[in-house]
Amino acid sequence: MKCTRCKKQAEVELKSHNAAFCRECFNYFFLNQVQKAIKTFKMFSKKDRVLVAVSGGKDSLALWDALLSLGYNADGLFIYLGIEGFSNVALTKVRKFASERGAKLIEVNLTNEGLAIPKVKEKTRRVVCSLCGQIKRYYFNMVGLKNNYDVLATGHNLDDEVSRLFSNVLHWKMDYLKEQSPALPSEDGLLKKVKPLFRLTEFETSAYAFFKKIDYVDISCPFSKGATFTIYKKHLNSIEYHSPGTKIDFYQGFLKKLKPILEESKKEKKNLCKICGYPTYSDVCSICRLKGLS
Ligand code: SF4
Ligand code: ZN
Repeated sequence: MKCTRCKKQAEVELKSHNAAFCRECFNYFFLNQVQKAIKTFKMFSKKDRVLVAVSGGKDSLALWDALLSLGYNADGLFIYLGIEGFSNVALTKVRKFASERGAKLIEVNLTNEGLAIPKVKEKTRRVVCSLCGQIKRYYFNMVGLKNNYDVLATGHNLDDEVSRLFSNVLHWKMDYLKEQSPALPSEDGLLKKVKPLFRLTEFETSAYAFFKKIDYVDISCPFSKGATFTIYKKHLNSIEYHSPGTKIDFYQGFLKKLKPILEESKKEKKNLCKICGYPTYSDVCSICRLKGLS
């Protein structure tokens, strides 16, 4: 197999793009896809201060690496979740990544906030991943606003977005569908949020991380077992295998055909939490309620 771009020996085949690339041309393709996402959705410019939410996994570190390689002003934010055997490994990898590149890293320790994930799990009956996601989003937003960043970037890839879309459609979660987008503008109390990897699959992100020798966390969080999204991803991959390009078509179709209709329907108005002042649909936000449970 020859590289589509330079005709040298190819190392990766991308059926959905009808292409194959050598290492160098693949990295060029990857950065090009990131750049295209940033431009199309007016995510940010070289003048903006970008805060990248990094977990230590391959997606977020590949994103941070890509943004630095493209010359963006990108700092990292790591939220220490307090999960034994997992959070320390993640923290070490993220610190190493940042110091090797001379990049700025902000750290938040949830243990100091009374919100270490294992403790939160004990206190409530709700699904731990949904709480963990909520807590992380809250701190991404708060830290970004307090430190005057223009935008928050997360490492969600095409597989993440497609499985989320699939789940939202399966259960007709209209409010979630309205909020699903590669770029959400800033609002009162909410920082702008973007997903520059939305055009790239998990496989492509893994290949980039491998070629760029990014040292990421390769153990799973002990709470991740049996997550529904993993099951959806498996099924979507099997469809993609039989019909390459389905994932990107499904997602792009949503953005072009359904999203404009959804955007016209009125959004539910958000209030500001009485305790912390950040947006919520009720009087007190769920994070302040969780803190009050101890
Ligand atoms: Fe949090 Fe669940 Fe992810 Fe673990 S698997 S880091 S608990 S969201
Ligand atoms: Zn090539």
